[in-house]
Amino acid sequence: MSRAPGAIVSVFERLQQSYVLGKTKTYAWRKAQLEALQRMLSENEAAFVEALNADLGKSEAEAFTTEIGFLLSDIQHTKKHLRQWMKARKVGTPLVAQPARSSLQPEPLGTVLIIGAWNYPVQLTLAPYVAALAAGNCALLKPSELAPASSALMASLIPKYLDSDAVAVVEGDKDVASELLSLPFDHIFYTGGEAVGKIVMTAAAQNLTPVTLELGGKSPCVVDANTDIATTARRIVWGKWTNAGQTCIAPDYVLVERSCADALIDKLGKEITRQFSNQPLQSKDYGRIVNERHLTRLKQYIEGHEIVIGGQLDEAQMKLAPTVILNPDIDTPVMQEEIFGPVLPVIEVSSVSEAIDFIKRRHKPLAAYLFSESQSIQQQFADEVSAGSVCINDTMMFMANPQLPFGGVGNSGMGRYHGKFGFDTFSHLKSVMKRSFWFDVAIRYAPSSARKRFL
Ligand code: NAD
Repeated sequence: MSRAPGAIVSVFERLQQSYVLGKTKTYAWRKAQLEALQRMLSENEAAFVEALNADLGKSEAEAFTTEIGFLLSDIQHTKKHLRQWMKARKVGTPLVAQPARSSLQPEPLGTVLIIGAWNYPVQLTLAPYVAALAAGNCALLKPSELAPASSALMASLIPKYLDSDAVAVVEGDKDVASELLSLPFDHIFYTGGEAVGKIVMTAAAQNLTPVTLELGGKSPCVVDANTDIATTARRIVWGKWTNAGQTCIAPDYVLVERSCADALIDKLGKEITRQFSNQPLQSKDYGRIVNERHLTRLKQYIEGHEIVIGGQLDEAQMKLAPTVILNPDIDTPVMQEEIFGPVLPVIEVSSVSEAIDFIKRRHKPLAAYLFSESQSIQQQFADEVSAGSVCINDTMMFMANPQLPFGGVGNSGMGRYHGKFGFDTFSHLKSVMKRSFWFDVAIRYAPSSARKRFL
């Protein structure tokens, strides 16, 4: 059944065995496990905050809102709707197949692999798990090795709170990930960069395992001159510099109408000071860069550009201040690669239409933002820009609505989750037709000569 050697295989087989025995299928088991996960997060909130602070310098407030609190409300929403989601979904039946009843019956996929990323190390490992668990799967979780404190905490707590026959955490780096990827999981849910996304998809193909790829890319933010500039700046600062810009849906760069560029930069500067003080490197609310490799990459992005805000560096603390650069050359790495850090290029354009054209000529982003009071421009943006999600007059807030799916399109990923979309991602919607015996039309049966005569 399995091909890779060693301990990982026995964990995988244990999970597979539980799935085959049907352990995870009942509503009662799923609900109890969701409640256990809820308890695990609530009772260990302080430990999670500490781990997230150790890994990324996250403040208590940020750790709660973007990770622990996010997960608690996700679980609450899932519990509230689970019974309904699990029900067969009735569909119509055409005359030719009558009399019959047709439905889509959700069934779990089996044993799934969830590979998490380091930037929201708890949320990005456990939110997919909430969906996988709700849908009745066994799961193996592989948190990112770049957030070691969060990874170790999940590995130690999950066996204490959850059913170890149905969920396991395997810690490790890319070698462990490669070993896991060789196993015939029933689904792989991967969050991370595009390059590894291709490795995951290639490995999955060997077992015909379906994948969900939650990737990234350059999420644009367009600012129309017809906007409330102070609130626009406030919301961009929040979206960009939460977690020091290490957020897959952070605005990567801003395209601003030339006539309001100065005003926007002025307000961005004021808002950075308001949110992180005039010494952001000392602010407890401002996170650090995950490791030296990424800090070096980010330093290189700003070299040779016109820095209009920030630029200060504290290598010992691994922090780079909120930094805005103006009109960088589009061919330079900062405009060619996903920034994934606290550097914000602001590029002047003549109109929102020019900005939309710029976006359409590039890879489809994970998120696209527009700030504008004009309803026609809002509609134009929503109609013309292809992105995983579009958010108008704010950044990142769409994540707070479990009725909206989260996921990419094109190079920003494939598949979606959150709320019912996550439940469906980890379910097979099996078609079931129930016919009765009381009426039978003979023309479909052989001999064909009889059929012809009838027609
Ligand atoms: P990362 O380094 O944490 O890697 C992600 C996971 O892939 C880790 O668990 C890691 O062990 C594993 N991995 C690394 N190399 C591997 C290999 N060769 N084979 C198999 N697995 C391997 O994360 P990252 O890639 O630095 O993450 C940053 C990227 O992730 C950015 O592009 C960002 O936009 C994207 N991201 C997307 C989302 C989303 O929800 N769409 C969320 C966060 C991050």
